[in-house]
Amino acid sequence: MSDTEHGVVIVGAGLGGIRVAESLRSGGYSGPITLVGDENHPPYDRPPLSKSVLLGKQDRVDLKPEEFYGDSAITLRTGTPVTAVTPGEHTVTVGSGGDAEVLAYDTLVLATGLRPRPFPGSPAKGVHVIRSVDDALALRAESASASNAVVIGAGFIGCEAAASLRTRGLTVTLVEPAPTPLAVALGEKIGGLVTRLHVANGVEVRSGVGVEMLVSQDDQVTAVRLTDGTEIPADIVVVGIGSTPVVEFLDGSGIELAPRESGGGVACDAVGRTSADDVYAVGDVANWLTVDGVPTRVEHWNHTVEQAAIVAHHILGSDDDVVAAVPYFWSDQYDVKVQVLGWPKGTDDVHVIDDDGKKFVAYFSRDGVLTAVAGGGKAGAVMKMRAKLQASTPIAELL
Ligand SMILES: Cc1cc2nc3c(=O)[nH]c(=O)nc-3n(C[C@H](O)[C@H](O)[C@H](O)COP(=O)(O)OP(=O)(O)OC[C@H]3O[C@@H](n4cnc5c(N)ncnc54)[C@H](O)[C@@H]3O)c2cc1C
Repeated sequence: MSDTEHGVVIVGAGLGGIRVAESLRSGGYSGPITLVGDENHPPYDRPPLSKSVLLGKQDRVDLKPEEFYGDSAITLRTGTPVTAVTPGEHTVTVGSGGDAEVLAYDTLVLATGLRPRPFPGSPAKGVHVIRSVDDALALRAESASASNAVVIGAGFIGCEAAASLRTRGLTVTLVEPAPTPLAVALGEKIGGLVTRLHVANGVEVRSGVGVEMLVSQDDQVTAVRLTDGTEIPADIVVVGIGSTPVVEFLDGSGIELAPRESGGGVACDAVGRTSADDVYAVGDVANWLTVDGVPTRVEHWNHTVEQAAIVAHHILGSDDDVVAAVPYFWSDQYDVKVQVLGWPKGTDDVHVIDDDGKKFVAYFSRDGVLTAVAGGGKAGAVMKMRAKLQASTPIAELL
């Protein structure tokens, strides 16, 4: 490996960005590394935002101590949006208008994550999303004087927000148009077990019904009207209806994007290389080919960390093939850690093999083969299944 003049520029100072920078240094890269982020914060961790930060147990969730950047000779530029990429010239533009500045790179890494989808027609006050630490702190501050919260969308972040707000003592209604919470990701059987957990903790779960509109007075949300005509009073609404990859700054760059039906984001090969020379993408924004050649975009912490290590490895000159890791995801709701290992689909067959009324373990199968294991409060039983998943074990051998 030979270090070069301009070094590595990383766009997006979040988990993926900092992990690439760190792995490059620990792997011996001695050229310049510049980490450019649009937020006014050094890289921080997002999973605690809907959990310990919203619960008021934590304020700072920085991924590295302040001195890390100087000690590692990583130039961190916060509050600096990248507005354009010109692969033919190996440059990126930061800022716009008279403040625009051009940075040259030898290698570029895109790690810009996601942007939450807003609910159409939202009033200005009382409606929240949770993506950034500023979002989480604003919601926490407002929830201190609020009584009624409605969470729209019972995916993982919506379920966690409902759990945290309920734990803080608010009256919480969780609204989900699918038949159960988490049905899209984990199917209705697991969704039913998660519903039970929320109901046991006093959350009203309204599944199978959509939201018609947010009702407001003087631009402050006052209620959520459902498609069945019910109106639920709300002084706080949390919108958790999904997110979109942040790719607008690539307009005109020629860098190929993945089609929406394959998850969208930046199209990559199986080691994170994009369609442009010397440009990689990692994390939530990146749509990598699996080892089986299927374009896949994943929005999980562990996945981002694994991709960052692979990309750093390749920038350092490795040509290794990728070994498929078994994906892992967790979600904390009340005192239960939900853990998922593998490749679940909402349409898989789900076999609940252990359920004590609160904690559970379930195996997922497709075409007779184990595809995933999900558990609530059963870490050992989930994690021990990694080898069985890697080996595509017939489900009949496990039941
Ligand atoms: C509330 C919440 C809870 C979560 N909980 C879990 C969990 O329990 N378990 C789990 O596995 N995963 C969880 N996740 C997902 C996990 O945090 C993400 O997978 C991970 O943060 C992805 O890292 P990333 O680097 O791709 O993106 P991010 O961490 O989002 O970083 C991207 C950064 O790029 C910046 N950026 C965007 N555009 C530009 C630009 N043009 N110029 C410069 N900077 C730019 C963004 O502002 C952001 O700072 C959670 C996520 C959220 C939001």
